[in-house]
Amino acid sequence: MTIYFDNNATTRLDEPVLQAMLPYLRESYANASSLHQPGRTARAAIDDAREQVATLVNAHPSQVLFTGGGTEANNMALKGLAARLKTGRILVSAIEHPAVLEPGEVLARAGWQVEHIPVDAQGRLNLDAYTQLLAKGDVRIVACMYANNETGVIQDIPAISALAREYGALMHCDAVQAAGKVPLSYRQSGAHTMSLSAHKINGPKGVGALILDKGLDIDALHHGGSHERGLRGGTENTAAIVGFGKAAELAVKELDERSKHTRELREHLQTGLSAIPGIQIFATEAERLPNTLQFSVPGFDGESLLMSLDRYGIAVSSGSACASGSVEPSHVLLAMGLPAETAKGAIRVSLGKDNNLDEVNQMLTVLAQLTQGGAPMPSINPAVLAG
Ligand code: PLP
Repeated sequence: MTIYFDNNATTRLDEPVLQAMLPYLRESYANASSLHQPGRTARAAIDDAREQVATLVNAHPSQVLFTGGGTEANNMALKGLAARLKTGRILVSAIEHPAVLEPGEVLARAGWQVEHIPVDAQGRLNLDAYTQLLAKGDVRIVACMYANNETGVIQDIPAISALAREYGALMHCDAVQAAGKVPLSYRQSGAHTMSLSAHKINGPKGVGALILDKGLDIDALHHGGSHERGLRGGTENTAAIVGFGKAAELAVKELDERSKHTRELREHLQTGLSAIPGIQIFATEAERLPNTLQFSVPGFDGESLLMSLDRYGIAVSSGSACASGSVEPSHVLLAMGLPAETAKGAIRVSLGKDNNLDEVNQMLTVLAQLTQGGAPMPSINPAVLAG
């Protein structure tokens, strides 16, 4: 049995979510744009999901636009807004996910002046540097994530949005990691656009949403039928959207419980890890997602530690999961001013609602053995060590 500690990469599809989806794969498979009864049934299910997702982020259902995931939502926001605004400067936080950094690169190649906003040693946006960048003028778009996928650090999005608005810029917020883990309000965030992804909240992969105001002038990313306000042509994936809606509903209902549970496990892990000599746990002074902890052990490379843990059946991530396979140091930790060697050693543990204390203790035991650091040795399930 694998101990799965990689919930920021993706989560297990919840059973009630699967059950909610199945009828739309088996019986109610009609095209939601069709006028007949089966089509209307599919449309009604999509409308319900739109309400459920809107509730998750305190938005109006009319502000929810379904996409093929978080990456698509980020691309749609940045490229779609840039297409309308034509030219100027774009400020992107230095610690964004590649799903924001890469569209930024594409826009830079298209002639936009794209600049990165620095963060402090705890991974929080440097508000002074940000204000100075804004004050230079002509900033049309600002992009800053709500919570970082590696460190879990939460940004002060209302303050960052307020500054963007003060200088006449549009604010995009990638809230893919924050949704379902902390209370989230599109209305109170001050953001013009906000990205979400279903598979980070025990929903299906390949479905997400861009939250945006109806009046916002934005270009479609790809063109086709008039689906999703004409901004995303293509027959809706009804089952996936229904699954996203159900996952959002459960995330709202269980937010406090999930957050309390993962925070307790994270604190236990953090206390146990602190016993390993020289261990560095990142961003502990910043407000973090309750489920996330990133650390490095001196002398250990992140990739090899990950593979060693994997041999014990413990699944973690080194830096961003989307960048695994490459041994580049984490750009997030580099932006926080950490040396490349430390950044290369980073391991991310991201807990989920299904994890338990025994699993955390097992990881602590294995890590203590691997690093010979003398950390506490709680009892371990031999089956795990054998696996
Ligand atoms: N933004 C952040 C912060 C993420 O962590 C991820 C996924 O790792 C994405 C965007 C991409 O979302 P998706 O996998 O739905 O395209």
